Amino acid sequence: MDRRCNCCGEALLGRSDKRFCNDACRSQHYHLHHQKEREKISDINRILRNNRRILLEWRSTNEELTYKDKLLQKGFCFEYYTHFRELDDRKAYFCYDLGYVEEGRARYKLISDQEERF
Ligand SMILES: [Zn+2]
Repeated sequence: MDRRCNCCGEALLGRSDKRFCNDACRSQHYHLHHQKEREKISDINRILRNNRRILLEWRSTNEELTYKDKLLQKGFCFEYYTHFRELDDRKAYFCYDLGYVEEGRARYKLISDQEERF
């Protein structure tokens, strides 16, 4: 079977478990692999940080409740959160230290993960 370097695609000679032609190809391959991993993580972190920024902004208004539309308008992304906590009949979703819980239809109450333990 024709074996090729996982990095540059050159034909491989020698040991059958060899995956790269040399150390340079090996480290280049892992560098690129880790770079892709880092990019995936940082894309998601960017969304989470943006969500947290919107929650911070909300907190600074001293309004206890807000509406889903208002958060969406600001670019809040409901699919992303760092963790959640089960309340009696609802779930509180957090982006790091700040979170929200649904209070009726499309209405949310802001909560902090540090202060409030339900
Ligand atoms: Zn190579």
